[in-house]
Amino acid sequence: MALYFIRSFPFKDLIGLGLKRGKYFVIANDGFSMSYNSYRSQILATPLNRMRCQSISVDSKEEDIITAINRFRPAILYAYPTTMELLLPHIRSKAVKAKPAIMILGGEKCSDKLRKELSTLMKSYVFNTYGTSEASLIARTCKHGHLHLFADWVIIEPVDKNDQPVPPGTSSDKLLITNLSNFTQPFIRYEITDRVTLHEETCSCGNHMPYIEVEGRTDDILEFDHPGGRVRISPIVLTDPADKEGIIRYQVIQKDYDHLELKLMTEKGYSKVELFKKIERELRLILSNMDVSEITITLSDDLPRIHPVSGKYSMVLKDLPAQ
Ligand SMILES: [Zn+2]
Repeated sequence: MALYFIRSFPFKDLIGLGLKRGKYFVIANDGFSMSYNSYRSQILATPLNRMRCQSISVDSKEEDIITAINRFRPAILYAYPTTMELLLPHIRSKAVKAKPAIMILGGEKCSDKLRKELSTLMKSYVFNTYGTSEASLIARTCKHGHLHLFADWVIIEPVDKNDQPVPPGTSSDKLLITNLSNFTQPFIRYEITDRVTLHEETCSCGNHMPYIEVEGRTDDILEFDHPGGRVRISPIVLTDPADKEGIIRYQVIQKDYDHLELKLMTEKGYSKVELFKKIERELRLILSNMDVSEITITLSDDLPRIHPVSGKYSMVLKDLPAQ
């Protein structure tokens, strides 16, 4: 797939990759995420890659991310769309000086508007990807914004809630994925709860693989009160405390611009209140690093809930009062 992936880049961008010595920069969750794991596997592959690859945690301050990108000048930049949305004002003001030849967005839904604006401002070949930790990359966008499948790498089966196949052009309730390359830990018809529509129409971009529309993963940017106005924060930064020992499920709900509510499902033998105290401290630290200090964080008696429409579980939700 790697060869197919590289072959699909425009020729001028491959030249750009060569001129910038293929340096790869990742802005991601530095825990269990597909993007961070791909970065880890790169730097472990050869000592040279340690110089060519760099990462920064997604919950770093914006100015630290900008400094790191400008210093490293990557050829390839990987980031979540909401991170790039937060960096957009700095890209417009030219505070971000790096011009990666290729920008890979992933982990969240990405609008065509954002993709096109980043492409124009950074003069990069920008595309969005869809993938999971279990199957790695599943699809990537073409110039028309269609998410074409890597059908030689992974089989996807859109199904309804009774696991029955849904026809192309119809939205599924779930997706079954089979990874064709992972012989160490095979995933066969592994269920994920994303709603997906498969398209078999021909796309004029020249890629003959079918393409998909993904309705899941639409966490929006959160806004918090701040003396100077509102601070915008990517929801992913609030997921960092979720991997604590004793937590089965973790959900942060923004109830107001100065109020977060936490819902926890904990393992037997762990005190929900004690875990909440640790998480509260961590969330306050994350938020204060982003200049949000006036915040109320409460613990709910309820368990984390799935989305009533998509059936998808999100770690961060918004439930703001009507304006
Ligand atoms: Zn296409």
